[in-house]
Amino acid sequence: MALVAVPLTLASTAASAAEPHVDNPYAGARQYVNPTWAATVESAATRAGDATLAAQMRTVAKQPTAVWMDRISAIAGNADGNGLKFHLDEAVKQRAGGTPLVFNLVIYNLPGRDCYALASNGELPATDAGLARYKTEYIDPIVDLLSDPKYQDIRISATIEPDSLPNLITNISEPTCQQSAPYYREGVKYALDELKTLDNVYTYIDAAHSGWLGWDSNAGPAAKLFAEVARTTKKGFASIDGFITNTANSTPLAEPFLTDPNKQVGSGQVRSASFYEWNPDFGELAWTAHLHRLLVAEGFPASTGMLIDTSRNGWGGPDRPTAASTSTDLNTYVNESRIDRRVHRGAWCNPLGAGIGELPRATPSTAPAESHIDAYVWIKPPGESDGASKEIANDQGKSFDRMCDPTFVSPKLANQLTGATPDAPLAGQWFENQFRTLVRNAFPIIPTDGSTPRPTPTATPTPTVTPTRTPTPTPTVTPTRTPTPTPTATPTRTSTPTPTPTSGTGACSVRYSANGWNSGFTASVRLTNTGTTALSSWNLRFTLGSGQSVQQGWSAQWSQSGQTVTATNAAWNGTLAAGASVEIGFNGSHTNGSAALPAPTGFTLNGATCTVS
Ligand code: BGC
Repeated sequence: MALVAVPLTLASTAASAAEPHVDNPYAGARQYVNPTWAATVESAATRAGDATLAAQMRTVAKQPTAVWMDRISAIAGNADGNGLKFHLDEAVKQRAGGTPLVFNLVIYNLPGRDCYALASNGELPATDAGLARYKTEYIDPIVDLLSDPKYQDIRISATIEPDSLPNLITNISEPTCQQSAPYYREGVKYALDELKTLDNVYTYIDAAHSGWLGWDSNAGPAAKLFAEVARTTKKGFASIDGFITNTANSTPLAEPFLTDPNKQVGSGQVRSASFYEWNPDFGELAWTAHLHRLLVAEGFPASTGMLIDTSRNGWGGPDRPTAASTSTDLNTYVNESRIDRRVHRGAWCNPLGAGIGELPRATPSTAPAESHIDAYVWIKPPGESDGASKEIANDQGKSFDRMCDPTFVSPKLANQLTGATPDAPLAGQWFENQFRTLVRNAFPIIPTDGSTPRPTPTATPTPTVTPTRTPTPTPTVTPTRTPTPTPTATPTRTSTPTPTPTSGTGACSVRYSANGWNSGFTASVRLTNTGTTALSSWNLRFTLGSGQSVQQGWSAQWSQSGQTVTATNAAWNGTLAAGASVEIGFNGSHTNGSAALPAPTGFTLNGATCTVS
């Protein structure tokens, strides 16, 4: 019998075999802590000026956050951060103990990126050339790096292109989204095909959040689109491990005091309140459960897992409600009961008052089984801005989105102030002021000893409901009813000095209109310079009816003394040419009950009397 020689190489290959692809990569694993972000947080802690806050920040610094590949230069590293190789090498060190390690990576550079907003517009145009660069200069180099065998035991969890496919569901009437649509589909397919050549890569497609896709009229088409894109990939449904919701958003996991969307309060069901616009999903646990059901019906496997970005959805702090409202007025009930204190669920930019949510962890025991949660993760690193509150020049393609401007009354938010934190830097830049609030308003409260906060009991997801009437509104629809007062928005105050009054004549006309309800009203004032000279600054005064007062205003600096209200131009609208008009407005409160609200009188512009039209 002949002896067969065994080649020596066989033995060494066997020793370096990669771990198999698992169902939930987070189970039994730790997640990568970005040392660069942690150092920034540590440095903020040295400036906290408060021992408790500093200790909480140090707990935050130990938490895992995602690494964003937000442009081609991020792969090699640029002024904003270290490159992918640096992070992967660090991950190998963090993996050293033997416990599996998940590395959260964000793929975020599609051609025509952020087609419905401006703050995170990207470097690649929505053209064939843009797509070619996406493939060859972005996805290919990332996959090349990841395929280095020294990283084969790092579980790479890739969040795929936040907001892109969801924009094709709700915002496809926008020309920019129409233009981007084919590139989003093809880009996502390409990313999936290439990433899934590696066994240690886990792909999670971005599925927006409950306040965006929760309506059945959006959720159904979204699940269909996800299935359609999956079917175009080489591996079909197997190219997608799961979905991620709430990426960089601040929608809570659930509303602890609004657990039944169908509950009848006053004039209607809770879900019919202005804040929910008939959307049955009040939080991300409800949305993930809802989406999972729809995905399985479209052909996705039941093993499809869900991630939720909890980096900024805590909504704690002193203004967090502690019980359900006792009001019998539907909107008051909802507004007083909800922990989400945004003016509108479409407010996405640096929301004032938001706090850090649950710390990252796998299969949270408090999450309901039907939500199929693989893990809570921090994809948006807390402290990084969503967008600049004013125009800031940059070479990343990012534009100024007025949703990030706290003085802007947005038609996308039912004509309310955005509620964005003022003085924000460009998207992705460190925003320490916001970070301090995020830590202070964290819920659960961040421990000061570096340990994991006690998990909070979580409300069960909202049950599937059979609508009692056809829910049609989408998040972009402006409700027809009077906007509710904005409880958390900051009053419009600019830091610019009061302009010196000009010698302009101030001849003017004013058109005033207001919409009121029991205790509040929203007023608009259109002011026209009917004089013959341009004004370089202006100052409008008028007398409000008794019992009325200004709560917060926009497009001017507002103040009130007795019943005399003064509105001085904002930094950007002081120039008023002869014949030109400016629109300003404010939210007010009043004590007239259901009686009619008398209009203000005695309008003057720079001291001269105005006619009222
Ligand atoms: C920005 C990215 C940034 C990411 C994480 C996004 O809004 O556009 O540049 O990397 O946030 O902060």
